[in-house]
Amino acid sequence: MDRNLKENRETALKRAEELKNSIKDYLNKSSEIQTGLNLKEKINKNRTKIMNKMQATDDEWNNWKWQLDNRITTISELKKLVNISDKMLKKIEEVENKYRWAISPYFLSLIDPDDPDCVIKKQALPSSLELQDFGGKLDPMEEESTNPAGTITRRYPDRLIIKLTNICGMFCRHCQRRREIGETDQHHSQEKINESIEYIKKNQEIRDVLLTGGDPLTLTNSQLEKTLKKLKDIEHVEIIRIGSRMPITVPQRITDELCNMLEKYHPLYINIQVNHPKDLTEEAYQAINKISKAGIPIGNQAVLLKGINDNPHIMKKLNQELLKARVKPYYIFQAKNVKGTRHFQTSVNTGIEIMENLRGYTSGLAIPTYIINAPGGLGKTPINPIYNISQGRDYIKIRTWEGKIIDYPDKK
Ligand SMILES: *Cc1c(COP(=O)(O)O)cnc(C)c1O
Repeated sequence: MDRNLKENRETALKRAEELKNSIKDYLNKSSEIQTGLNLKEKINKNRTKIMNKMQATDDEWNNWKWQLDNRITTISELKKLVNISDKMLKKIEEVENKYRWAISPYFLSLIDPDDPDCVIKKQALPSSLELQDFGGKLDPMEEESTNPAGTITRRYPDRLIIKLTNICGMFCRHCQRRREIGETDQHHSQEKINESIEYIKKNQEIRDVLLTGGDPLTLTNSQLEKTLKKLKDIEHVEIIRIGSRMPITVPQRITDELCNMLEKYHPLYINIQVNHPKDLTEEAYQAINKISKAGIPIGNQAVLLKGINDNPHIMKKLNQELLKARVKPYYIFQAKNVKGTRHFQTSVNTGIEIMENLRGYTSGLAIPTYIINAPGGLGKTPINPIYNISQGRDYIKIRTWEGKIIDYPDKK
């Protein structure tokens, strides 16, 4: 080998070693982070037990309507289906007078009865901390005052959201719209939806419409299609988006019929919410795969949650697992100031540290944008570690992903 080549090779090998060492702690920890896939056997066991107690057939279990109709909503049912301490049951009883809870039998089967800190349980079952939250607001985003018509929230120049329902496969304990869960399940009236559609028709700058809720995929195919059809008929609506957690909480919802119907309304995008690798089971993978096969790009909107995913290793693993499922990590949301959910809030520094540990250390594709929703409906605001240190007349001082500070010549 010529001398130059040899020297270069040595430099590259040294650098490669250094790079490898820079993720050594992640490589050590990563295999310890549980995923829905590697817990498959345990989940299957839980499912068998739950199905037996509920006297459910396979056909029923695999039917999303059965899953929705049989959501567990009382502690007497809950007690029959999972091992749960009397102390915890008592706490749930106290909370349920104030905040409703519901969990699909499927999502219940993901709870690990042997793990007191189970991240599925934390997302799904009430905690007494909800009652100990004396601050916060019910509507910190002031959705109520950014509602120009029907069930619309409009906060941006060219896009808006329409809420179709308040029903969900599960009432996530960190829900930002818990004020709307109320006492009863209800799809919004056709009248209200029509009013929303009329508003969009009259406002030609609206080119992107996002259907949300509640969970729009709790509607039947034909109910949902009514709205999709009307939107598709509006010439200036360029894209439609659906925000749904059903692929995670009731993956049985993603049927071939649904996908065949959705396909007619391209360009259509779906954003889901996966908060921990444990949310991603074989069933969730299958649901996601079906959506992808229908040509629908899927993004993930995770919520940064204390005790669930407020850790750089877990977030890295989550985003890598999402890429394996062909889901693009889109946003990580700072948990909002919603009354009764603030025990999930982390410091903003926790979020910044997570972002710091993603950029450069893993695929750019695995990096979502970290967002603080500005209070008062002022909109999503990106928060980044500082890479842009200062700027002179003809240079910019930058910090690389590893923390190297460099002056980069800038055009005048
Ligand atoms: C989040 C949100 C949107 C969509 O925002 P993107 O950044 O385009 O994904 C639109 N309208 C409202 C009211 C929202 O809260």
